Amino acid sequence: MVTPDESELLALWECGLDLPAPQRALLLLAATCPQASVDELKALRLGRSNELLVRLRVRLFGTRMNLIATCPQCSAQLEAGLDANDLLAASARAGEDHAVVHGSLTFRPLALGDLIGLPGDPGQAQRLLLARCRDSAPDGGADADVAALAASEMETVARALAAADPQADPSIELKCSGCAHAWNAAFDIGAFLWRELDAWARRILREVHALARAYAWSERDALAVGPTRRQIYLQLSGI
Ligand SMILES: [Zn+2]
Repeated sequence: MVTPDESELLALWECGLDLPAPQRALLLLAATCPQASVDELKALRLGRSNELLVRLRVRLFGTRMNLIATCPQCSAQLEAGLDANDLLAASARAGEDHAVVHGSLTFRPLALGDLIGLPGDPGQAQRLLLARCRDSAPDGGADADVAALAASEMETVARALAAADPQADPSIELKCSGCAHAWNAAFDIGAFLWRELDAWARRILREVHALARAYAWSERDALAVGPTRRQIYLQLSGI
């Protein structure tokens, strides 16, 4: 696994600004796993791609994650801490994912590439996802077979697929300090990491802007000195 430097991270952030979430994840994973082809990354099970994103997050920003959640009971906003090591331990406990059999149909767990280009309608998106991860039928009738599934059957398969790859859609236990309500909240590492990367990139650009004004440095000059010396130069410049 490769850790992008500041200059590479800024370029990744700029490339991903207008991309949907799955393509952003692919972009980050391609930069950190340069030995893997795009097709190999698209074929990563969601649990595995989430694990790689957690590992990247640890390399970039450390293990401690601070979340803000809204209590579904009393609507209070609460801050919660999350240790990335707990997520990695859950990935290790999850073990190997496995296929799901429903009647005559067999489905493999969802892969990162399955999430690309889904329609906005949840029902249509779920049906397309199942068609994509349905093992190919000899007669090529996968789409027709999935289209014949009732909504309740699709829910059953979706739940079984979630159980087959538990870290595909991980959740964390939260408890409201105001009303003591406890619940499991979904945790999307891709969205979380992108928000952090976005905040980081905008802060770095503000620092580069300040240093350019103070010392007439180029962006390359400001990034080359590294974060520690950059902070000292910013303090010395009085900006
Ligand atoms: Zn509450």
